[in-house]
Amino acid sequence: MRFTADLHIHSKFSRATSRDMTFDNIACWAKIKGLSLVASSDFTHPEWFFLTREKLEPAGNGFFRLKNILPPVNGNLRSASLGPDDVHFVLSTEISFIYSKKGKVRKVHLLILAPDFESVEKINGRLSGLGNLRSDGRPILGLDARHFVRIVAELCPRCVVIPSHIWTPWFSLFGSNSGFDAIEECFEEMTPFIFALETGLSSDPPMNWRLSALDRYALVSNSDAHSPSRLGREANVFDTDFSFKGLVEAMRTRNPDKFLHTIEFFPEEGKYHYDGHRKCGVVFSPRESVLNKDLCPKCGKKLTIGVMHRVEELADREPGARPPARVPYKSLIPLNEIIAQSVGKTAECQSVWDTYFRLVREFGNEQKVLTEVSTSEFAHLQLERVGQGIARMRKGAVHIAPGHDGEYGQISLFESELSEEKACGQLPLF
Ligand SMILES: [Zn+2]
Ligand SMILES: [Zn+2]
Repeated sequence: MRFTADLHIHSKFSRATSRDMTFDNIACWAKIKGLSLVASSDFTHPEWFFLTREKLEPAGNGFFRLKNILPPVNGNLRSASLGPDDVHFVLSTEISFIYSKKGKVRKVHLLILAPDFESVEKINGRLSGLGNLRSDGRPILGLDARHFVRIVAELCPRCVVIPSHIWTPWFSLFGSNSGFDAIEECFEEMTPFIFALETGLSSDPPMNWRLSALDRYALVSNSDAHSPSRLGREANVFDTDFSFKGLVEAMRTRNPDKFLHTIEFFPEEGKYHYDGHRKCGVVFSPRESVLNKDLCPKCGKKLTIGVMHRVEELADREPGARPPARVPYKSLIPLNEIIAQSVGKTAECQSVWDTYFRLVREFGNEQKVLTEVSTSEFAHLQLERVGQGIARMRKGAVHIAPGHDGEYGQISLFESELSEEKACGQLPLF
């Protein structure tokens, strides 16, 4: 079965998340976005895990489904007409490990997927003695990430551990301020347990292909959504057995017939693509930072070194290099952003959402609108300009002021002076 999966989101019990991150809302939005599988999230949090057991039941394939569906309060969501088998959940959580190793403080986020409630109970039971799981949906533990992987491998070897958003500066495996230069430095003898890495919003597969050390890993993409409308902004498209086992095998083997492609942000739109200081208004390419010795010309302090710079530091291949076995990708822009730009409004404006839901009702879900609907079909609905914006996105003819130091990049789809040099280039899958 062909399906799209978003394996990393957060519930309303995680810091800085929307109160709307409840199972009913998440399931509804997953259908609107075109996801068949979505993370249950935050299973280490006692209250949320209690709700998880209340709301979800095993579907018999290592995934879970809603026991009963409440009609959404929001009329637009009601039009999604969610059925019990439209959206499944995979048990998941993210943990922040903060510890010292070889004289440096390390801060690494790991995503965990589990096939059943029993595995979750075993993990939670062990971790509850090591830190406060109640404090946050994404708890902080002072445990070495390697020791955690050992615990998981011993307690429930069918569980999967995926280092999250591996390039972000403050909390990741390769982060400029938090991480390591090699996967083995972090996980040592437990390295073979890891077979997938999450690339994060600020990097895309071609950036990761520049490191031959990553060739043996599946590069996965997830939304890390903190509010329902952001679900699926990055995701993974599979054509395999719709089961926990099928999902894991498709990632582990990276078989191109089973792991079809990932859905990506244009990486420039991510919050940490370039270097800079947000408060000082300084945005630097890696080259500009090197020329300035990584210091801010305004305040004199060290710049926040972004993802592109860090990839540049660790890469052993030139830009444009393509490893032999690789999963393809599509770069997409969220549909509400495209509509907003086509009418000159902000992405959260009500009239933008009205058009958004009109398109979702017409064509089924957001992913279909972004990847399958033809320009003439948009014209038929008197939405020519939205169609033009989507055509530009599919060609990669997009101008983006790069994100930096926690600030998202700014996309311009309709910039009249857009030149070939500014465009992000042809994309392999369109
Ligand atoms: Zn994280
Ligand atoms: Zn500064």
